[in-house]
Amino acid sequence: MNLGADSYDIVAERGILEKAGEHLNLNRRVLVVTDSGVPEKYAKTLAAQCKEPFICTVDEGEGSKSLETFGKLLQCMLEHGFSRKDCVVAVGGGVVGDLSGFAASAYMRGIDFYNIPTTLLSQIDSSIGGKTAVNLGGVKNIVGAFYQPKKVLVDPELLRTLPERQISNGLAEAVKMALTSDRELFELFEKGNITEDMDEIIIRSLNIKKNVVEQDEKEAGLRKILNFGHTVGHGIESSMTGLYHGECVALGIIPMCSPGVRDRVAAVLEKCGLWRTLNYDWDKIAEAAFHDKKADGDTVTVTTVSEIGSFEMKTLPCIEVIDMARACLEGLK
Ligand code: NAD
Repeated sequence: MNLGADSYDIVAERGILEKAGEHLNLNRRVLVVTDSGVPEKYAKTLAAQCKEPFICTVDEGEGSKSLETFGKLLQCMLEHGFSRKDCVVAVGGGVVGDLSGFAASAYMRGIDFYNIPTTLLSQIDSSIGGKTAVNLGGVKNIVGAFYQPKKVLVDPELLRTLPERQISNGLAEAVKMALTSDRELFELFEKGNITEDMDEIIIRSLNIKKNVVEQDEKEAGLRKILNFGHTVGHGIESSMTGLYHGECVALGIIPMCSPGVRDRVAAVLEKCGLWRTLNYDWDKIAEAAFHDKKADGDTVTVTTVSEIGSFEMKTLPCIEVIDMARACLEGLK
């Protein structure tokens, strides 16, 4: 990742967790942050390679992205005498990464942070790019910092224990990136075998995200394409329970593609285990979609795809976006 003084390596290799010590400076105090749903052996494998490890296991789930848990991590570092030269390593999914990256950014105004992502979503998306945050007052990611890691180690072996539905959840983000930026990756989804092609899916997705972040680290423009499908997706996510984020984004993507490519997109999403027929409540979806930060008055800027591998950004009336989504998703039932 080329970001001037904040540049870092992203190393993707099967089995790299076992030799993390060859890539990271673990010869110091290391706060290893994981959660209760991540197999314990991953944090232990990392800790065994550290000079002075302290494992902190937070509860699994979004609830741990809180100021309370953030405070606990800081307290833990303070009690164990962490100095500016010590470091934090995340061994978990996006929850652990966002939370512990933010703690690393704040402790003594910033100590080294390494990320070892263990979910597909975090391996292809959330572990790179430097967005760290916790939630507050029911608002997601409202308190946080841009804080780049010093290195990211991506070990696809760790996905062996990840439930299939979580794999699909991550694939939604890969399909999203393929649609706006990589026609060949989309064709791999169409023609290939997802399990066998997983390493290529990870590498290609990482490259897309890396290129976007390098051009627009602080989300002034281009980085917004990573929100492709998220306006409607967010509306669906907030208005229904029991669905994963990726499952909602997958549905949000379809209406943002032109009719000519929708069938191909729907077929790929089905192959990824991301196809759902739901009873939508469009009033609730509209309310949730446009009460978030992406709405701007009566219009909203959305990313659309009319040719796979490229995108347009359009500013449309909110009502038009919802009407498009309604016509498309109800028509696909
Ligand atoms: P998650 O971190 O909650 O992990 C999902 C579940 O999988 C958890 O229950 C976890 O315990 C379990 N798990 C993790 N690794 C496992 C493994 N190898 N084997 C078995 N179980 C495992 O969810 P996520 O989807 O990884 O991340 C979601 C979070 O990421 C959200 O909070 C979201 O806001 C954030 N996010 C951040 C960015 C960013 O740029 N920083 C981008 C996208 C999403």
